[in-house]
Amino acid sequence: MITFVTFSGIMNIRENLESLGRSIPPEIKLIAVSKTQSPETIMKAYSAGQRAFGENKVQELITKASTLPSDIQWHFIGHLQTNKVRLIVPFIDMIHSVDSLKLLKEVDKEAGKIERVISCLLQFHIATEETKFGLDLTEAIQLLDSTEFKAMKHIRIRGLMGMATFTDDQDLIRQEFKHLRDSFTKIKARFFRPDGEFSELSMGMSGDYELAMQEGSTMVRIGSSVFGDRPEH
Ligand SMILES: *Cc1c(COP(=O)(O)O)cnc(C)c1O
Repeated sequence: MITFVTFSGIMNIRENLESLGRSIPPEIKLIAVSKTQSPETIMKAYSAGQRAFGENKVQELITKASTLPSDIQWHFIGHLQTNKVRLIVPFIDMIHSVDSLKLLKEVDKEAGKIERVISCLLQFHIATEETKFGLDLTEAIQLLDSTEFKAMKHIRIRGLMGMATFTDDQDLIRQEFKHLRDSFTKIKARFFRPDGEFSELSMGMSGDYELAMQEGSTMVRIGSSVFGDRPEH
């Protein structure tokens, strides 16, 4: 059973999106993070023209995707278990949170069954918190160098994703974003063509997206500044 939060209406989603639109340049993609929000609330953002939404729980995503318009681009941004991969592969636009070869193999296998190619980002661990999932540069290089990865036909690695430490320390956040950007540059130089498909850097949330954009973000994942504060879940 999934229960959604509803807000009292003080947050004007359309105005929030317009205001974000003024601070985010058009070449940077805004993913509206709709986790915990009801389908009705998501429709308010949709009506205002928003099409890319981010979710972090498989069951919640499936419930919403089954009732909401089919031209929504769903981005998976949470920790993904291999046994749930087949549930999202048929419709997912991008998986931001690939953190192991094992997970990637499962995505490739399930995507192969339905002849889709899935856009994925490698999630990096850049924060000081222990709890955040992700790879480091050495692990990512190992993954991309592996014969198993090279044999995959249904995966398109489009870039990297990371979450900065939850802190007021702007210098620390900036350093973490710089570090992610640096890893992105190294991986691109080693494994991908300069003008190729490896071009996305998913970094920046409500509290730090401006910093992230200064450090080269191409996708910002913004929840509370679109929909209002949400209780932890
Ligand atoms: C919740 C979440 C966001 C959005 O967070 P806000 O602070 O509400 O903007 C972005 N990325 C990930 C991975 C998240 O889980």
